[in-house]
This record gives sequence, C-alpha cells and structure tokens, in this order.
Amino acid sequence: MTISLSDLNSHEQNDWCPQCGDTGILLAVKNAIIQANLDPKKVVDVSGIGCSSKLPNFVNVNGIHTLHGRAIPFAEGVKIANPELTVFVNAGDGDTYGIGVGHFISAGRRNVDIKLLIHDNGVYGLTKGQISPTLQENMKVKGWPEPNINGALDPLSLAIIAGYTFVARTQSYNVKEQTELIVKAIQHKGLALIDILQGCPTYNPEYTSSAWFSTHTHPLPNTYDGKVSDPSNLEEVNAKKLQALNLLMSEKMEDKHTGLFFQWENADTFEDRMKRSKMPPPIDEEISDSEGRSTVDLSEIFKSLST
Ligand code: SF4
Ligand code: MG
Repeated sequence: MTISLSDLNSHEQNDWCPQCGDTGILLAVKNAIIQANLDPKKVVDVSGIGCSSKLPNFVNVNGIHTLHGRAIPFAEGVKIANPELTVFVNAGDGDTYGIGVGHFISAGRRNVDIKLLIHDNGVYGLTKGQISPTLQENMKVKGWPEPNINGALDPLSLAIIAGYTFVARTQSYNVKEQTELIVKAIQHKGLALIDILQGCPTYNPEYTSSAWFSTHTHPLPNTYDGKVSDPSNLEEVNAKKLQALNLLMSEKMEDKHTGLFFQWENADTFEDRMKRSKMPPPIDEEISDSEGRSTVDLSEIFKSLST
C-alpha cells in the first residue's frame, strides 16, 4: 500500500502556537508511518492531556485522547487486545514524567510493544507554563516567578533502569533524525522511548529554541554503539545499559547527545509471556458464530447475580 502525506492529513488544523516544536513532531510521525509502510487503519495514537496530546487529532489514524498521566496503560491495553496494531503514545513531559511517572516506570517491567514519543519542553504548556520534572535546576521559564530550585529527572536513565528495550533522544526541529528514530522504534519489537526535546517558544523560549538545540545538542559519536549484538547474552545487555547510563550521567545541560542510546532487540515482551501462559489476545477470542449469534455463555454470571 502506498500512502502520501496528504492521506495522513486529518480534517482538523493544528492550533499550536507559531513555531511550536509539536509541528515538527507531527511531520516526523507522518513521515515515519509512510517510510515504515504502515496501514493507517492499523495505527493507533494514544495521548494524555497537554498541548502535545492534541497530536492524534491532527493525523489521520485511529486516536484516543485519554486522561492526564494515563496514556501508557491505555496504549498497553490496545496493543494487548490486538497485537497487529502499531501503537504510539504522544504525550508531554509533565504528563508522562510527572503525574504519570508510576505508569512510565511500571511499563518497563512489561515490555509491551508500544512506542512512546514524549514531547519534552520542560514546562506544562497547556496550563500556562509551570515547571515540569525535566526542567534543569536554576533555569528560569516565563510561567514561573523564580529560577527552578528542583533537580531535573533524566527520563532516559530512568527508562533504561526500568527495563525499556529501546531508548533514544532527539529534538523537535530535526525532522530527519526524528523520522529515522521513529522508524527504528516501529521496527523494534518491544517498549520504546523517544524523548523529544521540544520547542515551546511561548513558555520556554530560551532553552528550547531551534538555535539552542543546534548549539547544545550533538549526535552520538560514530564510535558509540548502543545496540546489543547478542540478545541472549545478558552480560552484554548489562554492559550496554551501563555504557548508556555512564554517558547520560556525564552529560551537561548545555551539551546533550541525540540518537539511539540503548537497544535490546528480541527481548521477551509481555505479548510473548501471554502466549506462553496460553492467554490469547481478546481479538483472537471467538465470541459469535457464523450467523453473528453470541457463543459466550453468560448463564453462570446471570445466575450468580440473581441470587
Ligand atoms: Fe507549543 Fe508551548 Fe504553545 Fe503549547 S504553549 S502550543 S507547547 S508553543
Ligand atoms: Mg511539557
């Protein structure tokens, strides 16, 4: 099936601020769907609450706009119900690493094959720019009266420790790099995080501008290889995790890397474990005969309710 960018346009125009980095992420998502040759009818984009979470409205795939901090469990449910679907989460840093951080960590234990594209701008943009968990200490943003006195959370390190099997970083104004990483994440079997440093010119113009990212982010060196070559070799898996963690912990705010930090292909997924436990996904369960009549016997349930 051949699709073009116009096939992926929705009837709704985006209402993000001028120069918002979310527009670059939207374009990269569309490019990646085309390059990975996905059928849009088999793509589901799940979002939470925030500027970023409007994205499913602006792309012609299936979309679910869920609750604040709850996009990940919704996405896991969709994928487990029908493993044939490609499932994205598009949500913000406040949503995912703040209110939803419990779900973010727990997802690592399961390794469900979903793709998190987190729009990371250091603020809660939709609610007027309060500081989010990824804003670095001493940064001052427009919606907060004083410089930030909190330390910042590093989502990539957290993801590696939690058990994510694909961990990458990019930035919203580099559509080429984003597209390449999203295609790789789609092709990866397992839980993927791409933390996308995202321009918010309205509330965090100083530290998320295109000029800031051009000066203060650099691709990982050519010599860096985050991919595990022998997926069954746990010593190598751990060595690759430590390599990524060492690099991340040595990064400075004004010198961050972009690219693929860690990838463990063919690790056991939650779907694999369900199969081994003989739990078929709901899509494979027979619920009606050829005439459309229900084959599900509910009599025991009704009996228990009537007593
Ligand atoms: Fe984009 Fe920031 Fe405007 Fe939200 S507030 S639409 S993140 S520029
Ligand atoms: Mg944000």
